Amino acid sequence: MTLLCLLRPVVFLLSSHPRMAMAHHASATANSARLRGVVFDMDGTLTVPVIDFPSMYRAVLGEDEYSAMKSRNPSGIDILHHIETWDPDKQRRAYETIAEYERQGLRRLQIMPSAKELCDFLDSKQMRRGLITRNVKEAVDLFHLRFGLTFSPALSREFHPYKPSPEPLLHICSTWDVEPNEVMIVGDSLKDDVACGKRAGAFTCLLDETGRYDSSYCEAAGIVPDFKVSSLAEVFLILEENFELKP
Ligand SMILES: [Mg+2]
Repeated sequence: MTLLCLLRPVVFLLSSHPRMAMAHHASATANSARLRGVVFDMDGTLTVPVIDFPSMYRAVLGEDEYSAMKSRNPSGIDILHHIETWDPDKQRRAYETIAEYERQGLRRLQIMPSAKELCDFLDSKQMRRGLITRNVKEAVDLFHLRFGLTFSPALSREFHPYKPSPEPLLHICSTWDVEPNEVMIVGDSLKDDVACGKRAGAFTCLLDETGRYDSSYCEAAGIVPDFKVSSLAEVFLILEENFELKP
């Protein structure tokens, strides 16, 4: 624990500049923190994004409320939390709309490039693999079935409270009997995945395929990931250069 406390700032310093982390790999081994498991987000991380979120938000909120909410929440809209306060009828209609968008997404579901290889790599190191999604259990079951990959535990929207609460990640850590700082969460959402990981005290890796999250954006949002990658293929290097993979 003491050693980790000393090491974490080094990792943070390097990780706010991911390219620097690459350049320092010679010394990274000596500074490696122990990692015992990796937890993934599903939509947009293990699967290619197929849900048109802006269109879904418009359908649920209406154009005016969507525009207003968007300007109030520059880091992204938390639709699930927002509709929790609605009256039951309005809420039910909203859930139906969301479910329809998710069903459309399921029909077009594709696995993210390098996801399978990354899972094989983690298996070869006997590393634990977990999953946390704000999508429904049905979607997780289909994902497991269609791609032949299993994540355990795999927590879906039915687990409350969901991301960005740290609870699902803390639940996985206690199921695995590991400390949060022995786990890394990988996800494509700064406000959900990285925030959840930060609050739990885990390492965080933001998958930013399009480069929309630069460091000033993250700093302004007050959520700075430890690592940032533009594809899952880069996660191998992050794992090998910064951690001791020791289940
Ligand atoms: Mg996602």
